[in-house]
Amino acid sequence: MNARDSITLIRQHLIDPEVCIRCNTCEETCPVDAITHDSRNYVVDASLCNGCSACISPCPTGSIDHWRTVPKSVAYSLEAQFQWDELPAQQYIADDLRAAATSDIADIPGSRQDSGELQSNAATTASSTNAPWSAAHPQLNLYGMKNPALATVAGNYRLTAPDAQSDIHHIVLDFGNQYFPILEGQSIGIAPPGVDANGKPHYLRMYSVASPRDGERAGYNNLALTVKRVQQDHEGRQARGVASNYLCDLQKGESVQVSGPFGANFLMPNHPGSNLLMICTGTGSAPMRAMTEQRRRRLEKGQSDNGKLLLFFGARKPEELPYFGPLLKLSPSFIDMHLAFSRVDGQPRTYVQDKIRSAAQAVVQLLKGDTYIYICGLKGMEAGVMDAFDDVCNAAEIDWPALHARMVGEGRFHVETY
Ligand code: NAP
Repeated sequence: MNARDSITLIRQHLIDPEVCIRCNTCEETCPVDAITHDSRNYVVDASLCNGCSACISPCPTGSIDHWRTVPKSVAYSLEAQFQWDELPAQQYIADDLRAAATSDIADIPGSRQDSGELQSNAATTASSTNAPWSAAHPQLNLYGMKNPALATVAGNYRLTAPDAQSDIHHIVLDFGNQYFPILEGQSIGIAPPGVDANGKPHYLRMYSVASPRDGERAGYNNLALTVKRVQQDHEGRQARGVASNYLCDLQKGESVQVSGPFGANFLMPNHPGSNLLMICTGTGSAPMRAMTEQRRRRLEKGQSDNGKLLLFFGARKPEELPYFGPLLKLSPSFIDMHLAFSRVDGQPRTYVQDKIRSAAQAVVQLLKGDTYIYICGLKGMEAGVMDAFDDVCNAAEIDWPALHARMVGEGRFHVETY
C-alpha cells in the first residue's frame, strides 16, 4: 500500500474460532446486532460493530476479545470469517502508513491505540487448545437458547456450613429421557428467565458439571452443578448475581432451560496410568469433583489401571470448602490431597501455590510422568501457581517453561479461570 494514499485504519473486532464454544451469548448481548453466525463460526460485522464492548465480559471463554488493526477498506468480511479455523495474525502496518492514515480507532469506545491485542478476561497462562489424546469424544452444542433441553431440579442443597459466609449449592438436574451426554470438564449454559435492565433476555452463564459422565447417580441421566450465590462484587460491594441467585433458589421439581454441552478441550485422559494434577479454588472444584469421581468409580469396578491423583484445593475456611466432608472420606492411597485455607483464625493465610511448594516432591514426581494438569477457579491464582511450578521445577533442575510449553502442545495443561 502506498503511504501517500489516504486510508482509514480501524480496530476490527474478531472472534477466535479456536476458543469459541458457540454458546450464542455474544450474539444475544450485542446491542447493534453486529454479531451473527453460521453452522461453523460466530463472526462480527465490521460495518455494524461500534466497539461498545457490551459482549466482552459475558463471554465465558474470552474468545470474543480479539482485535486487529486493519485498513477499513479491507476489513475482514463476514464471508472470510465464516471460513476461518483460526484467527489471522496482526498484519504489519508500516509506521509511515500509520502516520499517514486517518483513524477511526479513537472513535471506538473500548478500543486501544496500541498495536497489541486488548487484554482478554480469559486465562493469561498458555493453556492447551486440544484435549488429551485419550479423551472421550465430547458432544457439543446439542441445545441452544432457542432450543434448550428442559431439566428438572432433582435436589438443591447448601454445601457450606450454615454459619459460613459463602452460600455454595449442589444442584442436581435431571434430564429424563432427553439426550444430554456430558463428559467431566464440560460445561452447560443456563440463562435466568426474564429480561435484564435493558429489556433484553439475560445472557447465558456457564457452569462446569460436577458429576462424572455416567451421571450424578451412576446410570441416571442427571448431573450436578456447584454454584456460589453471588452477593458481592470483587470489591466487596453489594451485588446480587442474577443467575446464581436464580439457581440457588430453585426448588425441587422446578424446570430449568439448559444449553450445551460445551467444551472440547478441558477433558480428562482415559488411558491407563495417566496421572491427574488438579488445582482449584472455591467452586472451581466442580470439574475436579467430576474427574475424581470418575476415577473412583473405575476403581470401585476393579479397573485399577488408574494413574495417580494429586489435588490442591483452596478455600477461605474448611466450612467454606465445597464437598469438604466427602473429600475427607477418600483414601490417601487413591488421592493425595492438599487443602489450603486462607482465613482460619490464628493460622497463616495459605493458598494453593503454598501447598504446591510444600508438596514439591509429589509434584515433581508427577511432572516427570504421564501427567495432565487442570487449573480451575479464580483467575488471580494463575500467576501464583505458575510461579510455584517454576520454583519446584528449578529446585529439581527441570526447565518449567519448556515443560509447560510441551504440555500445552500435548493437550496436557488446561486452565479455566474467571
Ligand atoms: P473464593 O471463595 O473467593 O476463593 C477461594 C480461595 O481462593 C480463597 O481461599 C481465596 O483466598 C483464595 N484466593 C484468592 N486469591 C487467590 C490467589 N491470587 N491465589 C490463590 N488463591 C487465591 O472462590 P469462589 O468465589 O468460589 O470462586 C471460584 C471461581 O471459580 C470463580 O471465579 C468462578 O467463576 C470460577 N469457576 C466456577 C465454576 C463453577 O462451575 N461454578 C467453574 C469454573 C470456574 P482469600 O479470599 O482469603 O484471599
